[in-house]
Amino acid sequence: MKNLFLSKRSELEKVYPFIQSLPLPIRSLLEGGIASFMERRQKKQLIPDRVTVLLTDQCNLECPHCFISNEEHPRNWEMGLSEYEKFFKSSMGQIGQLVVSGGEPLLKEDFVNIIQLAEKKGGVKSILLCTNGVLPENLNKKMEELLKTTSIVFRIQTSIDGSEDIHDQNRGGKGSYRKVFESLALMKNLATKFPGRIGALHVNTTLSQLNINNVEQIVDDVKSFGFTQTFGFVRSPKEHIFNLDDQSLISDYNPVSFNEFLTVEDMEMALEKINQNLWLEYPNKLIYAVNRLTLYSIKEMVKTGKPATSCRSGRSELIIMPNGEVAKCEMLKGFANLKDFNWNLPELLSSKVCRDFFEASSKCFCTHECSVALNIMYDSSLLGLLFSSEIDLKTDQRFNGSSKQLSTHS
Ligand code: SF4
Ligand code: SF4
Repeated sequence: MKNLFLSKRSELEKVYPFIQSLPLPIRSLLEGGIASFMERRQKKQLIPDRVTVLLTDQCNLECPHCFISNEEHPRNWEMGLSEYEKFFKSSMGQIGQLVVSGGEPLLKEDFVNIIQLAEKKGGVKSILLCTNGVLPENLNKKMEELLKTTSIVFRIQTSIDGSEDIHDQNRGGKGSYRKVFESLALMKNLATKFPGRIGALHVNTTLSQLNINNVEQIVDDVKSFGFTQTFGFVRSPKEHIFNLDDQSLISDYNPVSFNEFLTVEDMEMALEKINQNLWLEYPNKLIYAVNRLTLYSIKEMVKTGKPATSCRSGRSELIIMPNGEVAKCEMLKGFANLKDFNWNLPELLSSKVCRDFFEASSKCFCTHECSVALNIMYDSSLLGLLFSSEIDLKTDQRFNGSSKQLSTHS
């Protein structure tokens, strides 16, 4: 059975307010039950619930903080249709959510055919497509074809770096910001034309010194366009992995011209502003609750030097690079290549090289928001916070001392 947290996210969004309204003892039972079920289920399953395929290294932009646009990063041979066919077939229909990213995934030759193969050979029913959003016509054409020829439910994520001028300056020049919203507007039309097939449309913003003083404006701007917004804190594998003995396991993908990391005080200020301007307005929206808990956990991790929860990367998620290399997460180096296992994922995951790498990286914790967010469903205490009301969050001892940042209404 696929992971319902990932494959049925739209349905969960609908039942979230009901879960929040349950009496505390029932919620506690639910949290404990879900976490232990998820843990047991994961131990039995070889294929991770979430698999991210970085389809290509190519991109039409050259963002200064991106490893892809780094000239020193070599262009590699990339997997094609026959390799993806074998790979998806080997996943035995167990992938709960496929994340499709890049580079800019829309630039991948055979983009549409690869997604069709994901459904046909891999049984994939839920896809999160991460695009920079500046190719609206390309996105619209390919999405329409996919909506007509598959039954996959899509979530679409684009990025905004800040206010219009900051974004344009950072991402391809004037007009780039407007194109992101043009893309989302086109997707909104498709969502109407194909009901139930586009589960979420949202804009993600990575907070850094570049935009930290603009948080309120960014929130207001995105709200005025009528889209959902999530946030991350800028990070680098070199700076933001803790408790890893073997530093040679860390990814080389570090930003070369970007040193805009946030202090704990910056993070607290940002959380307060997002809370006041966005999250408190939508207390029953699951996507905001997950983002808030994730960022709050990261801030506490940086502040206290202690992990928010155990990381299940490798077992719960996996990254497939364009050349077939497989990584446990975006923060660590690839540890094996699918081509050495005839593009068969279970064979690679059962290998000694995989076991050794997982063992060597079994105790680390880091500020990678995707992994922190994914780990919530395996942790009854974090689920408790996710399902609770604002008032419960306020009194939670885990975040004692700074919880006012998240809980200012009564
Ligand atoms: S759009 Fe994304 S992949 Fe392309 S250069 Fe910018 S951050 Fe990198
Ligand atoms: S995502 Fe998990 S495995 Fe990867 S660096 Fe972070 S804590 Fe370690």
